[in-house]
Amino acid sequence: MPISDGFAQRLLPVLQDIVASYGTPFHIYDARGIRATYRAMMAAFRGEPFRQYFAVKALPTPAVLSLLLEEGSGLDCASAVELELADRVGAAGENVVFTSNNTAMSEYRLARATGALVTFDDRSFFDRVETLPETVAFRVSPHGLAAGSHIMGDAEHTKFGVPVPELVDAYREAYRRGARRFGLHGMTCANELDVDRASRAATDVVEMAAHVADTTGLDMDYVNVGGGLGIPYRPDDKPLDFGAYAEAILAKRRECFPDAPPRILMECGRYVTGPHGVLVSSVINRSHKGREIVGLDASMSALMRPGLYGAYHHLSLPFAADRPEVEVDVVGALCENMDKFAIDRTLPDPREGDIALLHDTGAHGHAMGFTYNGRLRPAELLLTSDGEVVEIRRAENCDDYLATVRWQPTSVLNDG
Ligand SMILES: *Cc1c(COP(=O)(O)O)cnc(C)c1O
Repeated sequence: MPISDGFAQRLLPVLQDIVASYGTPFHIYDARGIRATYRAMMAAFRGEPFRQYFAVKALPTPAVLSLLLEEGSGLDCASAVELELADRVGAAGENVVFTSNNTAMSEYRLARATGALVTFDDRSFFDRVETLPETVAFRVSPHGLAAGSHIMGDAEHTKFGVPVPELVDAYREAYRRGARRFGLHGMTCANELDVDRASRAATDVVEMAAHVADTTGLDMDYVNVGGGLGIPYRPDDKPLDFGAYAEAILAKRRECFPDAPPRILMECGRYVTGPHGVLVSSVINRSHKGREIVGLDASMSALMRPGLYGAYHHLSLPFAADRPEVEVDVVGALCENMDKFAIDRTLPDPREGDIALLHDTGAHGHAMGFTYNGRLRPAELLLTSDGEVVEIRRAENCDDYLATVRWQPTSVLNDG
């Protein structure tokens, strides 16, 4: 949906100057908006034991991770490189959760060495691990309401988590192997906007943790309800009521754990930063090919979601509002017909040179980009809390594109 009034009021007065001096395309993120969302999440849990770990994959850019850490957030990592990134921005120990799947032993060792809270995605991997972390958590396969979501996969076909019937035994085994602190993880939804569904899915996980605790007699240190909360991409989508979501979780925790309530952990990415970014680009072509085509100077490499999933991203021409409206397809330059940002979109008649904004690119935007076709990833800028505009990642160039090339092919076998 259109960016918030606050973001628009901060961005639009300076946008033409930025574009004139810096050029397009680039993503720009709103520090104030990100902080405000994080603070609202914290406030919704009213000081109860709760911690939000930002899913690094959504926006793995140090300046943004640092501002979230400054607010008190933790980081959620799922790969060795994300762990390294967390380390470089100063997040250590239990300020990091490691929730991977199909994990390599080397990744696990790294996670354990950093002291991160580790989630074991599968029992067979757990059985192979020689040294357990201090706290053992298992990820439970989608069950209850989550099992109905086609993105998460149903219980039979998912690649995630320990199946419910094997869960209790996994905890007993962890105890036998010396673990004394326990958590339980359940990734309950994906881009979910319906607060009732999101709440039901999360409270299913709390109930599962209580079931494990009651059956095994073990104390649950934390319940991690994962990420997956949605943001309104379409103008008529309603934002999720996070306050009601938090209340539902707290109520279920009181009900299930009257004595020793576990901490609630969350790993939201999209919900925290998604609405607080836009991709700024310029119209470089108008053509008529049976359809009205508007070409931008950005490609799918800068924002995969429309081409990859047919996902809707709101598009606006902020300085063209008074023109008559037309229906157009808005495209990038990749040699792939799916490189389209919008199909049959109504816009004020676009002209070459217009500034075009693609909204809600603050999560799973730049991070998902690739360099196919030599269309390289654009820069990332930050509108700081003080109203400054700073570059936090430059655009890729040809040297980056070629950085991994061996111009002199090297032998891969050690002949001794
Ligand atoms: C992707 C992912 C997240 C974050 O998802 P969002 O939709 O950005 O909230 C959190 N936890 C795990 C395990 C994930 O795979």
